[in-house]
Amino acid sequence: MAFLELHGLTKTFGGVPAVDELNISVETGEFLSLLGPSGCGKTTTLNMIAGFLDPSAGNIRLNNAPLHTVKPRDRGLGVVFQSYALFPHMTVSENISFGLEILKVPQGEARRRVEDVIDLVRLAGMAHRFPAQLSGGQQQRVALARALVIEPPLLLLDEPLSNLDAKLRDDMQSELRRIQRSVGTTTIMVTHDQSEAMALSDRIAVMNQGRLEQAGSPQEVYDKPASAFVSGFLGKTNLLHGRLQRGGDGIGVIDIAAHRFRASDDQTCSPGPVKLSLRPEHIRIGKDAEDHACRVSGQIHSRVFLGDRWIYDVNCVLGTLLVYGQSGAAPFEDAETVSMSWDAAKLRIVEAGHA
Ligand code: ATP
Repeated sequence: MAFLELHGLTKTFGGVPAVDELNISVETGEFLSLLGPSGCGKTTTLNMIAGFLDPSAGNIRLNNAPLHTVKPRDRGLGVVFQSYALFPHMTVSENISFGLEILKVPQGEARRRVEDVIDLVRLAGMAHRFPAQLSGGQQQRVALARALVIEPPLLLLDEPLSNLDAKLRDDMQSELRRIQRSVGTTTIMVTHDQSEAMALSDRIAVMNQGRLEQAGSPQEVYDKPASAFVSGFLGKTNLLHGRLQRGGDGIGVIDIAAHRFRASDDQTCSPGPVKLSLRPEHIRIGKDAEDHACRVSGQIHSRVFLGDRWIYDVNCVLGTLLVYGQSGAAPFEDAETVSMSWDAAKLRIVEAGHA
């Protein structure tokens, strides 16, 4: 049994499911992100774990005991909101020690814990400032310190970095990761930012319309997306329609627009119509045709230079493919004929049974 278990967790508003039979397990010390587009049910899920919302169905177990029946204040969880929600009339150390006063932690111990956590989030020297005298990033650290000082079994983060500008967000990502690693608190973070989820998480649970689409390590969900939605939500991709066939030797081939390509051996779905994902960075582009089982020629339709790479739209028999050219490589001209190839393992079946 995992440390935290969500079983058939469901929340409906006016009969419409916002979270629909969600099953997720989280191991001790794990950093899990709930990732998905706006309105997919991430915050509703977090609010049910925190106890701010009652589930319509299903249950939540923490450490093998029911959690959904416990009052929010008795759950002892650390929560950091997007808005930080600091008390403006209290100093940094008063904000942080507030939760310890509620828990009636003896003064000496409380002082030691507040000092330790202020060091952990690197706010030494700012203990006597008020929130208005801090930058956004510093306020965010106070919110994190306030959540961690009560030594919660579970830390819940709701879009904690979304109020910070891009540079500060990058810095705080590494800080958050360092802090979570050093205290080892099991953490669930809500985000709609795929790069943030990739940078911080041990595992990502991708949600769509209240349902779990896929849960896995950042590399698993990126390289082996379980659905067309996941492949499109995590980075850019080319979605293609084809048909999987199997030869007498069991080796699969994929027919797309009357062209035949080798299928990767690790994809075991039944023969028939399939939807496929081919990432732009997995397509090699060159002037000369490579001798390769997965190859097609095309014509450059348009190109954009992004500094670290070229991005091409290439018209070919499969449609218009998005392709990344390596940095430094001589660019292809508009209307130039090019050859594209890829490894069979990179053409991923993301849906079976769709024509
Ligand atoms: P965002 O990234 O925009 O915060 P989210 O994935 O966190 O989105 P939720 O806030 O969980 O999404 O909302 C899921 C769905 O439930 C949405 O369609 C939302 O409109 C609906 N919803 C959420 N709270 C309520 C409520 N109190 N009453 C009615 N509908 C609600």
